[in-house]
Amino acid sequence: MYNITVFPGDGIGVEVAEQAVKIIRKLGEVHHLVFEIKEELLGGASLDKHGVPITPEALKLAQKSDAVFLGAVGGPKWDNVEASKRPEKALLALRKGLEVFANLRPAKMYPELIDNSPLKKEIVSGVDLLIVRELVGGIYFGTPRGIESLDGKGEKAFNSEVYTTFEVERIARKAFELARRRRRKVTSVDKANILESSQLWRKVVTQVHQEFKDITLDHRYVDDCAMQLVRNPKQFDVIVTTNLFGDILSDESAMLTGSIGMLPSASLGNHHALYEPVHGSAPDIAGKDRGNPLASILSAAMMMEYSFNLHELAFSVEKAVEAVLKEGYRTTDIYQEGTNKVSCSKMGDLVAEKVK
Ligand code: NAD
Repeated sequence: MYNITVFPGDGIGVEVAEQAVKIIRKLGEVHHLVFEIKEELLGGASLDKHGVPITPEALKLAQKSDAVFLGAVGGPKWDNVEASKRPEKALLALRKGLEVFANLRPAKMYPELIDNSPLKKEIVSGVDLLIVRELVGGIYFGTPRGIESLDGKGEKAFNSEVYTTFEVERIARKAFELARRRRRKVTSVDKANILESSQLWRKVVTQVHQEFKDITLDHRYVDDCAMQLVRNPKQFDVIVTTNLFGDILSDESAMLTGSIGMLPSASLGNHHALYEPVHGSAPDIAGKDRGNPLASILSAAMMMEYSFNLHELAFSVEKAVEAVLKEGYRTTDIYQEGTNKVSCSKMGDLVAEKVK
């Protein structure tokens, strides 16, 4: 039996999470497995009911479960609440509370959607890469940080990019382990020609590589990697990098494939895991059954793969998504003339029908 906490959240988070749950239930039926799903409020929905974006009870439930699924949080209704109560605070609390330090963002080009990519077909055809971003360290958390007055001569603002051997070791190990499930190639991205933190990063990644001799490792500077991602993205399998560089490169790689509605993600720690579509709560289309649920459904597939080691189930969801796209069904965001436009819930039904 697998215990899953689902936080539908706000906006289209609720609609797309419903489709992911549909798929998980179908997988349970077909494979005679028990997925025990408990739903909890998060973000604006929790703020409205409980006065906080995440309650201690909700966090505890997540910590006790085998995997956590999240739709999306936020929306204009809560844009003016005080900073500590903003729905997005729940994301940080959840990531911290679950100690998830590795953020995984695959970017895969589906042949049927190749015209959605802003790049030329020959460049993006066959792209299948995974960005592994360090999530809880680096410049977003490093101290000292702050803004100081310069006695009437303006201000000074500063942040610190800090990494320890331990932090780099665990993310590097995760990246090498993930590469073993794929094409066995890791590219470590840093700025070791300028930054001391990157010099340590490179040294430690190289040391950890000794435990993974079956994996090919290369190092690239972040500026070069940013360029290579649009020049020849097919050269990459797993890219492992810092919090800051990963934040930027994962958005760049996301655009290779065209639509934000297609992008799943996983955040892994040593004991917990959180799965969520990359997109937000899309207030402009919320409540209209118009969102693309495939990012959410593919996040559920990642849960099968990484939390439960149920490879065939993950594979069957991916194949079901491919089949539905091949048959020409599209949600509004990926619609093109000659294809068949369907709603969010219909897309969920179509994928569920195909799950084996
Ligand atoms: P967004 O991702 O919600 O939307 C950006 C654009 O993409 C919109 O036009 C939206 O309609 C479209 N879009 C997004 N997901 C889609 C899908 N599945 N299908 C079809 N179209 C889709 O980003 P935003 O507008 O910058 O943010 C809206 C709210 O979401 C804000 O409150 C923001 O803080 C929050 N947000 C939450 C998360 C999260 O929960 N992880 C992530 C990003 C933004």
